[in-house]
Amino acid sequence: MEIPRLHPDTIEEVKQRVDIVDVISEHVVLRKRGKDYLGLCPFHEEKTPSFSVSPIRQFYYCFGCGAGGNAFNFLMELGKQSFSEVVFDLARRYQVPVKTLEPKQRQELQRQLSLREQLYEILALTASFYQHALRQPQGEVALKYLKTERQLSEETIQQFQLGYAPSGWETLYRYLVEQKRYSVALVEQAGLIKQRKSGNGYYDQFRDRLMIPIQDPQGRIVAFGSRTLASEEPKYLNSPETPLFNKSKTLFALDKARYQISKQDRAVVVEGYFDAIALHAAGIANAVASLGTALSKDQLRQLLRYTESKQVVLNFDADSAGIAATQRAIGEIESLVYSGQVQLRVLKLPDGKDADEFLKSAPVAVETYRIFLLAAPLWLDWQINQFLAGHDLKQADQFEQVAQKIVKLLNQIEDANKRNYYVRRCAELLSQGDSRLISLYANNLLAQLKKPQLRSTTKQPSSSPLNLPLSSESSLLEEAEASLLLIYLHCREHRQEIIDALEEKDLLFSFSHHRFLWQQIMDLKDEAIQPPGDSSNRLLSLLQDRSIDFPEQMVQVAHLFHLKEKNQWEDILRAPLAIRHAIASLEYVACQKYRRYCIQQWQNLNPVTESESMQYYYQELQDAEERIQELEKLRQVNLLEIVAY
Ligand SMILES: [Zn+2]
Repeated sequence: MEIPRLHPDTIEEVKQRVDIVDVISEHVVLRKRGKDYLGLCPFHEEKTPSFSVSPIRQFYYCFGCGAGGNAFNFLMELGKQSFSEVVFDLARRYQVPVKTLEPKQRQELQRQLSLREQLYEILALTASFYQHALRQPQGEVALKYLKTERQLSEETIQQFQLGYAPSGWETLYRYLVEQKRYSVALVEQAGLIKQRKSGNGYYDQFRDRLMIPIQDPQGRIVAFGSRTLASEEPKYLNSPETPLFNKSKTLFALDKARYQISKQDRAVVVEGYFDAIALHAAGIANAVASLGTALSKDQLRQLLRYTESKQVVLNFDADSAGIAATQRAIGEIESLVYSGQVQLRVLKLPDGKDADEFLKSAPVAVETYRIFLLAAPLWLDWQINQFLAGHDLKQADQFEQVAQKIVKLLNQIEDANKRNYYVRRCAELLSQGDSRLISLYANNLLAQLKKPQLRSTTKQPSSSPLNLPLSSESSLLEEAEASLLLIYLHCREHRQEIIDALEEKDLLFSFSHHRFLWQQIMDLKDEAIQPPGDSSNRLLSLLQDRSIDFPEQMVQVAHLFHLKEKNQWEDILRAPLAIRHAIASLEYVACQKYRRYCIQQWQNLNPVTESESMQYYYQELQDAEERIQELEKLRQVNLLEIVAY
């Protein structure tokens, strides 16, 4: 049968409708095992089932012969059919209306595809042209600028494919159009040349400029950024919008940062190209630059694909001080912050420096920057502090002003728990250390708040430990981290145990305020050693001294300095159990994260050409899931024992 070419919409719709269990169970007897199904592999001879089908991930995998893939792959393999045949059959079966490509449509689709391909080609060629020009006598000033002013190494210059656009009006034009024979229309669509106002001929968009290629997440060049070398206006000039380049959807250096973002589970967003380049050169490779003054929703969504816990640190220039500038920088993403879809933190460097300037300012600047990143306050905390800054709360009118702003802010927080937390926190701040006033202020604030709206949330209906929603994962983590710190601070005899356990399992604190406190504790470790018999708590008093240097950070962990019940941990047997429980919880969350990472990797692989990697990730996934079950049991047992004591 001759299969007509299918429209991409039809393929997509079939993909959405098809259910792998449904498809495979027509050919294989499947039994449910846990969340998955198990059966005898149709692709090799076997007596005990090793063929598993996952409805959640919509894929199958055979432990015996390594066959694996989605529903399409299964039918193609089984019936030795082509992709189009399989989709066509499935479309009929699921009653998806089949749209085929008319010869004319097909041509148009082909044309669009080949236009993009050609634009990629021209931009890549142009980047090499600029790189070459940087090494010519004409590029000397540009190269010197990179090496001395920006202090970039040869390696970094190469890594970012930095280049130089010569100063002539038609240098690139002649190279691409006359020498390389690309059509003028195509080069114009690539955003590299512009038509003269007179209508006669074209001139280069970039002249006598330092050139910075902008790449998509796959590393293909889609545009250029540039900086003047002759103090011309504008100082920075980007490519215009093209079929390949949409400024508000592109992040500079994401191609180089995405691995580190997912590894560190955190992204840093800076304003300028050179800020991002300087950070990468300093080994802080989870940094990207926004291409404008504000961060757009589309840009943010791109980032969030790579960070599981949605941690983004915004390090924009601090020159225009105050809250308004940062608010503009946050632009349209503010609503995502209030609704808790992103854990946004704000980093303002001292003396109004940008990241590039700061990193060059002192020999230990890189280490300092890393600490700043970890200690960066959440956007809400930062904003509240901005409200308070410079106000004398003892003056009634100023107090009222601040309180009004706070109410307005609290009203925007959608999550009720989070809102309550901030009500309490703001009441504490307003009370200025007079603890008798806290609940009065908290009640006043609450009385002024709108009732939280009940929103219809689309929660996944699952309570299995493997599908723990991220929010409860994070509260589990927070609780576990806090109890480790609490025990460390108050039970001297268990300190080494905690250090050993963290090291053995290679675990780190995830919450920045906990990480900050742990860093302080480690810094003070030697100083805090006490002679036997001395019953005071030197570590605590040393930490309290430090509070003066880091008031904002310490405020977030101050509650750990006091034990609620005096004898909470005095029972020698209880602390080790609590430590084990907490460590198991940390490991549990880490495993969950790794599991999701494996799934993501797995899904992005091609079952035909990358079957070995698929097998690898599948095995990793199985191991992670096994470990998760073990840890879940371990945590339950520990918990029971703790309660029993
Ligand atoms: Zn098999």
